[in-house]
Amino acid sequence: EPSNRIDYKAELNEQQHAAVTSPPGQALVIAGAGSGKTRTLTYRVAWLLDNGIQPESILLLTFTNKAAREMQERVQALVTHDASRIWGGTFHSIGNRILRYNAERLGYRKGFSIMDREDQKDLMETVLGSSGIDTTTYRFPKAEVLGDIFSLADNTLCSLKEIIHTRYPYFEEVASGILKMRTLYQEKKRETNCMDFDDLLALTVQLLEENEDLLERYRRQFEFVLVDEYQDTNSLQCRMVELLTGPQGNLMVVGDDAQSIYSWRGADVSNILEFDQHWPRARVHKIEVNYRSVPEVLNLANAAIAMNRGQIPKNLLPARESKGMLPALVSLDSSSAQAAFVAQRILELQDEGVQLNDIAVLYRAHFHSMEIQMELTQRGIPFQITSGLRFFEQAHVKDVAAFMKFAVNRQDEVSFMRMVRLCEGIGNVSAAKLWQEWLKSDAAKAETMPTSFSEVLIPMKVPKKAKTTWEQFAYTLDELIDKDGKSVAPAQMIRSITEGVYEDYMKSKFKNYEQRQQDLEQLSNFSDRFTDPLEFLSQLSLLSGVDTDNNPAQQAQQDRDAVTLTTGHQAKGLEWNVVFAVWLADGMFPHKRAIDEGGDSALEEERRLFYVTVTRAKDELYLTYPVINHQARDGDIMMRPSRFITDLPKDLVEVWNVKSGW
Ligand code: ATP
Ligand code: MG
Repeated sequence: EPSNRIDYKAELNEQQHAAVTSPPGQALVIAGAGSGKTRTLTYRVAWLLDNGIQPESILLLTFTNKAAREMQERVQALVTHDASRIWGGTFHSIGNRILRYNAERLGYRKGFSIMDREDQKDLMETVLGSSGIDTTTYRFPKAEVLGDIFSLADNTLCSLKEIIHTRYPYFEEVASGILKMRTLYQEKKRETNCMDFDDLLALTVQLLEENEDLLERYRRQFEFVLVDEYQDTNSLQCRMVELLTGPQGNLMVVGDDAQSIYSWRGADVSNILEFDQHWPRARVHKIEVNYRSVPEVLNLANAAIAMNRGQIPKNLLPARESKGMLPALVSLDSSSAQAAFVAQRILELQDEGVQLNDIAVLYRAHFHSMEIQMELTQRGIPFQITSGLRFFEQAHVKDVAAFMKFAVNRQDEVSFMRMVRLCEGIGNVSAAKLWQEWLKSDAAKAETMPTSFSEVLIPMKVPKKAKTTWEQFAYTLDELIDKDGKSVAPAQMIRSITEGVYEDYMKSKFKNYEQRQQDLEQLSNFSDRFTDPLEFLSQLSLLSGVDTDNNPAQQAQQDRDAVTLTTGHQAKGLEWNVVFAVWLADGMFPHKRAIDEGGDSALEEERRLFYVTVTRAKDELYLTYPVINHQARDGDIMMRPSRFITDLPKDLVEVWNVKSGW
């Protein structure tokens, strides 16, 4: 029953309309920034629902979970079906969902934990310590680097040998040790029932490759697969799409090769460039109109990206009319003057009636935001910051999660260790002993918890100093399971932990204990919408490590009017009326490393990032840089404006002379 509420012809241009209504099969939409690719995908989903496709038959893969949620909301506003039943999210969250149903087939148990990078490093160190590998005589990669090497191999679908040879040649003499480590690490993860982020993709692919029945089942379920930001997929994700779609399946991907900015993390732009070789019958749609930006912003963006040689030429015409303002180029005396200028201009814009929500300050690296944060704070301008140390990666949040994870997954060594080390008087050595003792107990192995935690833990031998806290820990854990041995609701778990033993710990440990207390309250509020602790913990992990989701506290504040501060990478796909691109000085943006490297490829990726950054602006764009950097390590240094600006024809920007004293 078509809803007839949507006038597709009126709300889409001809090229978009053709893509939205294209017949089943495979399709690629390749077009520049702001041309309505995401809008096209959203309307495509609505169109499918309008034509009788069930929501759960649609798989929508996006760059952040937030993007998926927003698209679902958009769709929901357009149709009468229940859009929340669409399978939407990041590759990692979809992988997680599939693995939760099928973990046993991979030698895992159902309640597996997800480790973030820090947990992964901890576990890797444990494995390394007991591996017997001689890491002193030869140069051997540290736990973190090992993680990087394994991750790259996973995500590029290359063999470990190949990765060492091409990317880490200086470790070639210890290659056999690295290979051994990988095996040990894989075994350890199964033993402790933990997966790292890459497993969420790699194991999904393995599961589908090894189990014909599941492959067929999921292919039948996902009648339509749609992917946004396809230019930033890596080989592993591409494989996952291929498997879930099937050779005859219906697939629509959208992307822009000029916005490929994640090659440093294994993304491969050839996935989009060679799409028609993988899928020879694919229809290719191009959109050549930009709906987002005023012509002045678009002209600058087009001119910048045209300097890249490795680019599909695109002719992007403005749909919008000029508002009569060129992008402003503003040089300031110092970085603090830059911060003052941004803050001052924001206040003026506010006076002109611009909402703070419609303003963003974008930069290349997180530390570029420090002074701007201070300046905005001083002037009482609310802002939200979507990068840097993420909410869920903070120590106190992870501590609380460790209690929960262990209560749910009693083989989770990393969480156990984290938890018991909070106990004053227990160090690494005693913690390891306690773990061994725990493993011997029935409670560690049984499907549901046969006794209380305290019955097993309290008799264990702990250092005298730790005795009282240890008992408190045990009783706290007791509160996390009910009398049938099942875990209680997440909110209740958090309350038990934070209102007892962990509160004392925080008070004794942290000066800013009240702030942390508030964070945990927010965590508890966030957990209210979950009944299953496993689902809550998965969400927590998925929000922390991968990409760009906001923290729940910020989500709650999103209605609040606030300026956004974020990096170009994290601003991908988003738009604001006013954008400040700051620290546009050579060595900052483009990054010094890209300049020093000499070749074109690193600089071209930086320029694509510049293109992404400036194309976020709808109406006004400010390009700023400090003439002197007072924060440089070797004292004050003079800065030159970014080559991304000086390379452009002069008439594309207007130079603003801002009086000194800023
Ligand atoms: P990016 O490359 O940055 O991800 P995109 O190609 O996905 O951009 P969208 O975000 O979908 O572009 O669209 C950019 C803006 O243009 C949005 O505000 C969108 O609503 C608007 N827009 C797109 N197409 C149309 C149209 N046909 N009519 C009116 N507005 C449109
Ligand atoms: Mg988009």
